[in-house]
Amino acid sequence: MNTPVTQQTGNKVVLVVDDDDTTRLLTSTIMTDAGYTVLTACDGAEALEKVAEHNVDCVVTDVMMPNVNGFDLCSMIRILPDGDRIQILFMTGLDDLESIQRAYSAGANDFATKGFHPALLLERVRFLLRNQQLQDALRQSEQRLKYAQRLASLGHWERTLDGRTRAISPTVCKFLDSTDPSQVSWDYLCAHTHPDDVSFLQLNMKRAITRHSNFQLEHRYLGTNGELRILRHQGEFNRDANGEWLIYSTVQDVTENRAQEERIRFMAFHDPLTELPNRASVVRDLSRIIAGQGTERRMIAVFALSLDDFSRITSSLGQDASNAVLKAVGDCLRRQMRDSAHMSINESGDVVDELMIAHAEADKFICVVNNLQLAEAATSIAKRLQRTIATPIKAGDSELQLTASIGISIYPDDAVAANQLIDNAFTALMHTKDQKAACQLFSADLTQSARQRLSLEAQLRQAVEKEEFELYFQPRLNLADNSIRGAEAVARWRHPTLGIVGPGEFIPLLEEMGQIAEMGNLVIGMAARQAARWQRNLDQNFRISFNISPLQFSAVDLVAEIDQAVARAGTRHANLEVEVTESALMSNPEQVISTLKSLRERGMQIAMDDFGTGFSSLGMLRDLPVDILKIDRSFVMDIGVTPSGSAMVNAILLMARALSLDCVAEGVELDSQLNFLAHNNCHEAQGYLLAKPMCAADFEQWINKWQKQKASVA
Ligand code: C2E
Ligand code: MG
Ligand code: MG
Repeated sequence: MNTPVTQQTGNKVVLVVDDDDTTRLLTSTIMTDAGYTVLTACDGAEALEKVAEHNVDCVVTDVMMPNVNGFDLCSMIRILPDGDRIQILFMTGLDDLESIQRAYSAGANDFATKGFHPALLLERVRFLLRNQQLQDALRQSEQRLKYAQRLASLGHWERTLDGRTRAISPTVCKFLDSTDPSQVSWDYLCAHTHPDDVSFLQLNMKRAITRHSNFQLEHRYLGTNGELRILRHQGEFNRDANGEWLIYSTVQDVTENRAQEERIRFMAFHDPLTELPNRASVVRDLSRIIAGQGTERRMIAVFALSLDDFSRITSSLGQDASNAVLKAVGDCLRRQMRDSAHMSINESGDVVDELMIAHAEADKFICVVNNLQLAEAATSIAKRLQRTIATPIKAGDSELQLTASIGISIYPDDAVAANQLIDNAFTALMHTKDQKAACQLFSADLTQSARQRLSLEAQLRQAVEKEEFELYFQPRLNLADNSIRGAEAVARWRHPTLGIVGPGEFIPLLEEMGQIAEMGNLVIGMAARQAARWQRNLDQNFRISFNISPLQFSAVDLVAEIDQAVARAGTRHANLEVEVTESALMSNPEQVISTLKSLRERGMQIAMDDFGTGFSSLGMLRDLPVDILKIDRSFVMDIGVTPSGSAMVNAILLMARALSLDCVAEGVELDSQLNFLAHNNCHEAQGYLLAKPMCAADFEQWINKWQKQKASVA
């Protein structure tokens, strides 16, 4: 094949060294014409400089030269780093045998006689450079192999069939804790192998040797300081150059891998927090029990257990403490399982056995009792579980007394598949909602409403993921000058098929699902972005208030979340206001108050929402970081209806003024209410009389119209 010269030569650099101008010129012309990059030097010293400066691939050199001759040049090149990859071709006299020998011993790759045909000289150089390319590739692949072996913790070992080592890598010696490769042999390996694995190892190796078959073996190895390693050998049989059979194997330390696999296996079937089996584990074991029953069909009770009011515990004690509580409950149930021998005959005299306990998720646990003789016994077992949970649990410095509600389903009456039995128990549990220490047996008609709720939960989870929430804005009217300087942002869910859904339908559910903080963060982000926009388009000081669930205080770092949203949107804290309810302050006062203080220091206003519906007294307000009271709609509704209704609102207004708090009346629907409020110095009013909450675009239109109207009246 006739390959173009340039392709063959690539950008190889050839250095021509000769003190004779004519020979040097001639040789370099031949090389240049062939497409090589050519450098020249008049003697060895200059050649060495060129080699140091350039990436020379091949040196074509004369023997006898002033200063440094060809032999010395060759020896010096060979001791340079990477010098052994440079191809050196000597140009000698025709019969100068001695020079040829000296050249080879100085490290030359080849020689050519002077006066050689140019084409043949070129062939020699090409051959040398091809050789160099092959060597480079080999070196690279050896390097890669070394890296790969190091990364895989892999070493190699060649030995004779009777176990003597022929070659062994330092990595294998390290695995075997040997500093002396000559001491390592198959017998040495067996001597340090875990005693229980020795016969397995020897037997399998013997079998492989008899058949000359490839092998993979894994065994435990005892290191010198007593540590246990798991070694894996993978090998095959081949003859060496002399025809002797050898065993070529790789050896790998897989201790870490096996430990990780063990951990993964454990995690697949256990809850990481309590280390109790998880739901998947119950499904697996329960399925086995059911399958093993054959036609006998003995009763099995499945209990779904949930801690009452656990979200409150999380919000008041924080995540770490509530995790500790879950662990303690897990331990408590585990102890119960260990003591299950005592349950083998229950209070009703039924024989029960095999109690299984699992942690399904968050505050939900599963228990299974096999071999029930009477369905009614399930209820008394549930009661016993409830008593177990009611044992006081230490949480930090305080002691907690928990209660649990339980849903029960029974095999084979309620379902025959493990998964379905567990689902049914949870369906029953869901119907104990809002009750404490309740117990509910599954029945088929519970399923329909449970299904609806489950589907809503699934849709809500997606809604959070896909950010299907929007903010609607309700204007707040300043009663002193009839201006609109702010709005309350209320959340709406844009449901893919149902359209706009109000917060009453999804906020409580999100709170129960433990996802309110994710949704709350979306609200904070949207409110901040809208504040930035209206700060530019409507009014520098336009303020948007948004609602915060009590659970958000403990679930996220609210201050950081708001700081981030403000910075990202390019607005100011002063353009935002947060509305909290009294219940937030009641459940975890210290954390909530310190959060509100930090927000206030940043210039945010704090409003107490639905004031009057909770338990806080006006006196308490003095010590709270609150700027605004939002008088609940239920009070506003009574204005003018009963004398005490008006008096009540008036009292709130008067006391708020004494505490230097501003008041916003919520749910103003009538002119008479508005007049009363304005007359009694209420600061702001909000309600359907003015406008319902609207999407941002409608709000902008509404406020334009409002301003025009106001101007025309003036
Ligand atoms: P809220 O903070 O007290 O909000 C005022 C609610 O009263 C709004 O209902 C509003 O539409 C309604 N409203 C305003 N004026 C009138 C009126 O003249 N008459 C009547 N009948 N109702 C009026 P919405 O939007 O359904 O919100 C209900 C509650 O949901 C809010 O009460 C708030 O507690 C909660 N909420 C709304 N958005 C969020 C949010 O983003 N996060 C959290 N955590 N809660 C939110
Ligand atoms: Mg509100
Ligand atoms: Mg309110």
